[in-house]
Amino acid sequence: MPGRSAVAPVVRYFAADAEPPHLLAEVCDGCGARYLERRNGCGRCGATSFSRLPVAGSGTVSAYTVVWRDGPGIETPFVSCIVDVGEGLAVKSNLVGIDPTAVDPAVLDEPVDLVVTDLGLDADGTMARSFAFALRASHTEGARGRRRSGCSASQ
Ligand SMILES: [Zn+2]
Repeated sequence: MPGRSAVAPVVRYFAADAEPPHLLAEVCDGCGARYLERRNGCGRCGATSFSRLPVAGSGTVSAYTVVWRDGPGIETPFVSCIVDVGEGLAVKSNLVGIDPTAVDPAVLDEPVDLVVTDLGLDADGTMARSFAFALRASHTEGARGRRRSGCSASQ
């Protein structure tokens, strides 16, 4: 289609070209267990058929670490995190929109929303698209300032 480049998700469970882009769960047809990665069989009941369903585009930060080790083309530091997206699913991702040198445990349990990150185009014009999570805007200042200021924020 002229004017529209193709999109390639970095992982199979990311519906990168959907509107809005979202994560997809593999839901066991036998027992309803949910997984992000494709499975040959359900770890709970052994069934081998799955349906794909959208996952909530938000969640809460359950763990994080600041990564300082770089590689070619990787800007450091950045915040790697695990986000609980509900229904027993947790996804490893990056926490963006926050200063990695100032992040602190106040981000734990904070609400986050999925955001799209385009990684670049290949020679054929296909965009490699990934996702990350960002602190919900209304909570960003509280999460950043709570620990440092030691007092409640005023407007
Ligand atoms: Zn099952």
